[in-house]
Amino acid sequence: MTAVQQVTIALPEWINEVVDWQKTYADDDEKMALAIELSKQNVLRGTGGPFGSAIFDCSSGKLISVGVNRVMPMHNSAAHGEMVAIMLAEQQLQSFSLNADGVKRELFTSCEPCAMCLGGTLWSGVKRLVCAATADDARAIGFDEGPVDASSYQYLADAGIEVVRLVQREAAAKVLGDYLNDGGTIYNG
Ligand SMILES: [Zn+2]
Repeated sequence: MTAVQQVTIALPEWINEVVDWQKTYADDDEKMALAIELSKQNVLRGTGGPFGSAIFDCSSGKLISVGVNRVMPMHNSAAHGEMVAIMLAEQQLQSFSLNADGVKRELFTSCEPCAMCLGGTLWSGVKRLVCAATADDARAIGFDEGPVDASSYQYLADAGIEVVRLVQREAAAKVLGDYLNDGGTIYNG
C-alpha cells in the first residue's frame, strides 16, 4: 500500500522556554514584545528566519498560538511565522475560522506580512493585524514580500480587519539587521 502524503510543521523545542502560556497579555506593547522576542530567539538559536508571530483573544489577552519562521528547517516555503501561528491557532480551536465562535482574535507579527501571509490573515478570520517592522525593512535585507500594496491593505480593511502598523518597529527591524549581519540566509524561492 502506498503511504498517503502528509506534511508536518513543528515549532522548535525552545518555544516553551520563551513563551508563558498562562500569562494574560495586557496591551499591544506586551503582545508585540512576544512576537519580536520569538523572532529574535529564532535567529539566536538558528531555527529559522527572523520572523515571529502570535495570536491572541482580543478582549481577554489570552495567548492562543505562536509562530516562528520554519522555512529552511521544515523545507517548506509556506512556513512563515504568520502562517505557522494561524495554522496552530486553528488546530488549537479546531476551526478553520478564528472568529467562528464570535470571539475576536488578533495576529501580531514582527514584520508586515508578505503576499501569502496577508492572504492567510484574511482567510484566517482574525479581526485585527498588528505589525512591527515594515515590508520595506524586510526588502532592505533582501526578502521579497511579493505583490503587496495599498490595495491589499484596503481589501483587509473592507473585510472588517483592523490593521495597526509600526508598533515597536525599531526593535523588530534590529532583528532583521542582526540576521543579515550574522550571515543569515535570504531564501527567496
Ligand atoms: Zn509571509
